[in-house]
Amino acid sequence: KYYEPLRAEFQSANSGGKIPLGLKRKGLRIVVTGGAGFVGSHLVDRLIARGDNVIVVDNFFTGRKENVMHHFKNPSFELIRHDVVEPLLLEVDQIYHLACPASPVHYKHNPVKTIKTNVVGTLNMLGLAKRVGARFLLTSTSEVYGDPLQHPQVETYWGNVNPIGVRSCYDEGKRTAETLAMDYHRGAGVEVRIARIFNTYGPRMCIDDGRVVSNFVAQALRKEPMTVYGDGKQTRSFQFVSDLVEGLMRLMEGEHVGPFNLGNPGEFTMLELAQVMQQLVLVISKVGFSSLFSFFIALDLVVQETIDPNARIEFRPNTEDDPHKRKPDITKAKDLLGWEPKIPLREGLPMMVSDFRQRIFGDHKEEDT
Ligand code: NAD
Ligand code: UDP
Ligand code: UDP
Repeated sequence: KYYEPLRAEFQSANSGGKIPLGLKRKGLRIVVTGGAGFVGSHLVDRLIARGDNVIVVDNFFTGRKENVMHHFKNPSFELIRHDVVEPLLLEVDQIYHLACPASPVHYKHNPVKTIKTNVVGTLNMLGLAKRVGARFLLTSTSEVYGDPLQHPQVETYWGNVNPIGVRSCYDEGKRTAETLAMDYHRGAGVEVRIARIFNTYGPRMCIDDGRVVSNFVAQALRKEPMTVYGDGKQTRSFQFVSDLVEGLMRLMEGEHVGPFNLGNPGEFTMLELAQVMQQLVLVISKVGFSSLFSFFIALDLVVQETIDPNARIEFRPNTEDDPHKRKPDITKAKDLLGWEPKIPLREGLPMMVSDFRQRIFGDHKEEDT
């Protein structure tokens, strides 16, 4: 087993245990599949900063080299172009398995590929974990609850999923991935961890991935109307990416298999989200980004009073099988992982707006002033 000695060393280094003089802590060898994507690249940043050796495995379907290129000269970092649907031989201590498109627009683009990635890709990475004795973390999703009949969703709820719908390649794919993880755990003794992630947003999201937060931010910046699907009364809970990464790392290092809901319990209708965006854009146009501090003060002031009259909302027909409600019960993660999100929507969105603004307009001026 490659994992145990390094893990013991890691834990002693991180729990303040004494490392013998002259012996530097060796990092773990960690694979992040899907590490060039939105969540994966933020996770890689944290792991590299912690002193680990990270191998990113990605086929660049929705990921981008730009998300990880700041590590290219670092000898602790390696990038492999590889599709997880094909077998892969590596010697590692931990596997964070994120490879899979997350946006409905992307995963519906080639549904058969999506289900192969979730099933065959997860099988391969579990086979790898079994062979080398690595710990394996699956990034599952709140979509396993489908259009939930329980609210908020607790991990013990089995869900309400359409097995033959347009979202099934993703939600049934992830449900099968969870089954595979549990079967490798029970049958082959693989140490597995399962995270059920709720909607996450932040810098480095694909600009045109069709998700509601990226759409609204890009539309507001381009001065286009924000597209609200259906009546806009459906709800989601939005989590900032750094909170998720903290939760994933705690889960991996902890002793509990899960599944654990990782999400922000703040619940918003899509209309409320559009209103928050309208307010934000107004503040940005008034105060720019000259200082984050004045930004937040101004945000608070303006939010209390007005909405940008120029930021319009346009209603569009909703997509098929769209879940009506989504809100995590995170009691289990609080109790067993000591984790809860720290960044509310009104603090997270400005960081994302700033990133999108630079990528859409290539505009650094206001930040520099
Ligand atoms: P993303 O699309 O930005 O990242 C996915 C990454 O996986 C991309 O870099 C993509 O190129 C890569 N990939 C896709 N198929 C692959 C394959 N067959 N082989 C190798 N690489 C492949 O998505 P994300 O938001 O970063 O999501 C990461 C993980 O978290 C996914 O598994 C997703 O299902 C899960 N998740 C995300 C959210 C969210 O709101 N972001 C919510 C629930 C679950
Ligand atoms: N696998 C892999 N890398 C490894 C070990 C296994 O990609 O280091 C793949 C392997 O090709 C197989 C899958 O993981 O398709 C499941 O492997 P396992 O050993 O559990 O099953 P088996 O090969 O016996 O079907
Ligand atoms: N949505 C919307 N406008 C958009 C994109 C999405 O109103 O421009 C809605 C969508 O119908 C859904 C919610 O926002 O009810 C969240 O959609 P997203 O694709 O972000 O995530 P998911 O459906 O996977 O939770």
